[in-house]
Order: sequence, then C-alpha cells, then structure tokens
Amino acid sequence: GTVLITGLTGFIATHTALAFLNAGYSVKGTTRTAAKAEQWISRFPDHKPRFQYAVVPDMSIPGAFDEAVKGCDYIAHLASPAHWDQTDNEADLLIPAIEGTKNLLSATKNEPKIKRVVFTSSLAAIIEPTTLEPGKAIVETEWNPITYEEAKSHTNPPVVYRASKALAERAFWDFIQTEKPTWSGTSICPCATFGPPLQVTSLSALNFSNKFLWDIANGQYKLGVPKVGSPVFVDVREVALAHVRAVELDVAQGQRYLLIGGPYIPDQVVQIIHKEFPELRNNLPPVDSSRTDHLNVRFDSSKATKQLGIQYTALETMVTETITAILGVLRNN
Ligand code: NDP
Repeated sequence: GTVLITGLTGFIATHTALAFLNAGYSVKGTTRTAAKAEQWISRFPDHKPRFQYAVVPDMSIPGAFDEAVKGCDYIAHLASPAHWDQTDNEADLLIPAIEGTKNLLSATKNEPKIKRVVFTSSLAAIIEPTTLEPGKAIVETEWNPITYEEAKSHTNPPVVYRASKALAERAFWDFIQTEKPTWSGTSICPCATFGPPLQVTSLSALNFSNKFLWDIANGQYKLGVPKVGSPVFVDVREVALAHVRAVELDVAQGQRYLLIGGPYIPDQVVQIIHKEFPELRNNLPPVDSSRTDHLNVRFDSSKATKQLGIQYTALETMVTETITAILGVLRNN
C-alpha cells in the first residue's frame, strides 16, 4: 500500500517514511516545495522506485491536501510547526496545526481507499507542565486542558506550541466522531524525541529537540545545564515504528498511544557525553548531581509496548548514537 507522509522532510517524518519504505510500503511525501522533496530523495536513492511526492505550499488553505491524498491507502500526519519561536500565536502555530489537520481530514473524502489515518500528536496534548499537579502520573487518558481562546493570547511561547498540538489532536478525534469516516484513526503521543538526524546535511537545520541535545555537547550551555526541557524522552526509532504498527494492527483502531522511553534530566546527558566523547569534554557544563527531581516523574507508556510491541531504547544508547550521527554531519560539512 501507499502511505501519505505529511511534512516528509522533518526529523521524525524522515524516520517514519524510511520505516514504512523498509517495511515494503510505497511512500508519498508532502513538502512545501518540490526542491525539498527532490533533495530528500537524493539522500535515499535506493528508495526512489517506491517514492513520490506532492507539493502542499500552505496546508492552512481549504482543499490543500485534496490532490495529495489521491492513490493513498494510509496517512501519517506529521506536518506541524515544531518550535516555539513564533511572532504570532495564531498564524505561526495554532492555524497551521489545527487547520492543516482539518484540511487533511476533509481531503480523505476524495479517496475511498484510505483505511487508517495516524495523527502524530505529542505529550504536549496530554499534559501542560505549568498546570500539572505535582506527583500526578503521566497517562494517555489525560488531556492538556488549554482552550483556543487561552492559547491565542498566551504570552508563554511553549504553552502555545503545546496548545497547538492538543487542539489539533482534538480536531482529529472530533472529525472522526462527527464525520464517521470509513477509515479508523490512531494518535501517537511521543514525548521529547531525540535520535540520529537523518534528514539534515547541515547542523543549522537540526530540529528543536535534537538542537537541545547538541547544544549541551557543543558548549552552548557550558556555564550550566538548563533546567528547561521535558522530564521524559523517547528515541525517534520507536516513534517511527509506532506509526507503522498503528497502520498494521487492528488493535490500534481508535487508540491513543503515549510513547516514553524513560525519565531523564539534562545532567545525565552531560554525564553520558563525558563518558562516551572525551573530545567534547571541554564543552560540557558542570553536573549538578542534586538535581534529580525529574527522575521521580511517574508515567505509564506500557500500552504501546503491549499493543504495538514497542521496546524502548535506553538513554545512554540514544544519546551516544545521536551525538555520533551529529558529529558525522559536522565532519561532512
Ligand atoms: P521538524 O521541525 O523536523 O519537522 C516539522 C515538519 O513539519 C517539517 O516537515 C516542516 O516542513 C513541517 N511544517 C512545519 N510548519 C509547517 C507549516 N506551517 N506548514 C506546512 N508544514 C509545516 O520537527 P519534528 O520532526 O520534531 O516534528 C514532527 C512532528 O512530531 C510534529 O507534529 C511535532 O509536533 C511532533 N512531535 C515532535 C516531538 C519532538 O520532540 N521532536 C515530540 C512530540 C511530537 P518545513 O521543512 O517545510 O518547515
């Protein structure tokens, strides 16, 4: 079958597209320009025979995906603004995330072959850390309670990013409930996702989560590890595999999956880099070993293991392989 992957050239979408291709599917990727799609496939020439692309310059426009969905059996929707350096909450984050999702789902009316739509949501759609009760476990039945009205004028940029994910996922389930499409839906909620950035040829193009990891290694935080960041992490390869399994397994119909590989604090990342990459030691900030608060975080990501067979990669492996891959990009520049 053919899988439509929106936002093809992104970090997680690249791993997801390759996971589908390696599992024998054909992939149709959406990108904002033809040049981006051509550049992407030139990096993976072996996959060219089962690859095609559709250019969707602005997914906020009604009808944006009407052509792209044609000929597809499955959809994985990963295109969404994945940053919080917005200047306009609505135009830069909320509208593309929410309207992009609605336009994609409306487009499915043009292709009766579609059997499953996987929506790439986020831990951000489950919790809003600034209003989370301390000690409360992170579980996939919870919802970030923020409303559009609150998000529209919110002055804390990451809160607006998280709102864009929560409101887009709500739009996904609302569509399924009201339109009763012939396809079934699954949402995947990864927490902070890291891993080899296969999509980049230059480090200026690193996505926001891997940039954080690399900034720890490259001296950006030499004066101290930032306290910011998610208390939990997951490896991108589990996120990609979850998309494939969500398409393949009947049990995934109508389900929401939280993906968490484990708790982590940036100080642990510093310690792993110190051990594995002696050449980077001079860049590293001092470790504050008293800061273990995040490590007590309670969560349950076992549904993805039980139903989708996801086994989580350990922090040490993830950090080592990600930094190795980033150093490889650096050497080739
Ligand atoms: P990337 O920034 O690498 O990828 C984002 C993709 O979305 C790019 O292909 C980008 O296209 C596209 N995109 C962004 N804004 C728009 C827009 N306005 N219109 C059309 N396309 C757009 O990020 P990730 O790979 O990390 O994120 C992919 C998905 O996973 C997102 O939905 C994100 O919210 C979600 N996610 C990410 C996590 C993480 O830690 N990285 C954790 C949980 C969820 P272009 O290249 O043209 O800008």
